[in-house]
Amino acid sequence: MKNIPVIMIIFGGSGDLAHRKLYPSLFNLYEQGLIHDNFAVIGTARRPWSHEYLREQVSDAIHETHDQVDENEVKAFASHFYYQSHDVTNVEHYVTLKKLAQELDDRYSAQGNCLFYMAMAPRFFGTIATHINDQHLTGSGFNRIVVEKPFGHDLVSAEQLNKEITASFDENDIFRIDHYLGKEMIQNIMPMRFTNPLIKNIWSGEYIKNIQITLAERLGVEARGGYYDTSGALRDMVQNHIFQIITLLAMPEPKDLSSDSVHQAKQELLKSLIIPTPEEVKKNFVRGQYLGSDTTFAYKKEPNVDPDSTTETYVAGKTKFTSGPIAGVPIYFRTGKEFKEKKTRIDIVLKHINNPYGQAHSNNITIEVDPESKIYITINGKKIDEPGIRREDLTYVFSKEEMAKVPDGYERLLHDVFVNDSTNFTHWSELKRYWEFIDAVEDAWQKENEAGNPEIAQYLPYRMGPKEADNIFESPTEHWIYE
Ligand code: NAD
Repeated sequence: MKNIPVIMIIFGGSGDLAHRKLYPSLFNLYEQGLIHDNFAVIGTARRPWSHEYLREQVSDAIHETHDQVDENEVKAFASHFYYQSHDVTNVEHYVTLKKLAQELDDRYSAQGNCLFYMAMAPRFFGTIATHINDQHLTGSGFNRIVVEKPFGHDLVSAEQLNKEITASFDENDIFRIDHYLGKEMIQNIMPMRFTNPLIKNIWSGEYIKNIQITLAERLGVEARGGYYDTSGALRDMVQNHIFQIITLLAMPEPKDLSSDSVHQAKQELLKSLIIPTPEEVKKNFVRGQYLGSDTTFAYKKEPNVDPDSTTETYVAGKTKFTSGPIAGVPIYFRTGKEFKEKKTRIDIVLKHINNPYGQAHSNNITIEVDPESKIYITINGKKIDEPGIRREDLTYVFSKEEMAKVPDGYERLLHDVFVNDSTNFTHWSELKRYWEFIDAVEDAWQKENEAGNPEIAQYLPYRMGPKEADNIFESPTEHWIYE
């Protein structure tokens, strides 16, 4: 579907996200004819750039991410970009920005349609939203806003931010972006669950023993120590990406694929999310920090990290729902920095059945999200020349050619914003519920910190995280499938 005319304002136009993701993704949409010719993008940041300099930056961003491009196309695309030097904390700058937006709206006949993108440090989101409102930056057509993660630091701050944004935007026009929801294999979860009788019919506590989600990062905190120390793995990864995955795995089947129906199914599920008590946090959660090596710093010695920090670079935990198709099934998750490899994967572990062969291997359905995209089901078969059972994988894998065609998550999600499809964005009521869960865990940890006895497991870098995470399983027959 071709987009409608629009003026897009990117707050943070000189930043990393804009350069690496937004400009290349917008170009890809433009090349495919998915952006209307009547569009202009205003990049804003504090630096005193010119329109021409921003266009050079946009062109560089495209060249850095594409092997081959048509230079005329790049030039034509970049000509739609305009730069406005703008300090988001300075009210007067919004007056200048509004003037430029109105001029471009006339020049491009954008019909008063405005799209705002908050591609900046989250501490500025509330300020930007407030000034969009008090300086009347919204146009006479549609007004949409894309908000990057993290949306708040806890429930109270998320509620405050939401209040500031909803002063100018309706819930339907707020696109809280989580790029995991744009990933190919994450978008494959619903079709996999709902179109395969083989899978759909076993999607219950009767057959599923547990679900395991791993979001492993190879890197440490790098140069982001100062920010990371105020956040930690639970807020940085569980509150958004992991909970989105959990929700897709546990939600009931939506009545159709409309955005409303999908969000309705998610919200129905989330009502039954069990919020852990402090005792359950102690029992079911492990937090950890990486140690150093000959060549790397321990977390507490990283630049800009408090040497007495209790911030976790690793967390493993358990959750459950009381309703939905997999009510009562334990869902284990873990995420952390300095794992042995970068990997995002989901393992659905099926229960054993009695059989005349004795002990067979468990059937697992594994969805690999990153770096490879594949789904495989482990099944049991007979050994060729000796008695016994062997394990094999049935694999659904993307070829290199297919993978090359998969759009980046940002490209997909930006297109969704243009065509006003909020299916793969986070609704406020979902986000609120995620924060209720995260706050319960953070509060329990905070109390432990205050009592002077925080249990923070130390783990060796570039392995699988702390061994304490092996103890969160409900039964001795459970263990991490990905080891
Ligand atoms: P960044 O630090 O690279 O960019 C921040 C931008 O804000 C820069 O353009 C900077 O000039 C501008 N800025 C700072 N203070 C300003 C002020 N007072 N007034 C106007 N402009 C100001 O940050 P980033 O990595 O691009 O991240 C932006 C957002 O995107 C964050 O919310 C982050 O969590 C999210 N995000 C980033 C990535 C990524 O790959 N970089 C991925 C996912 C989400």
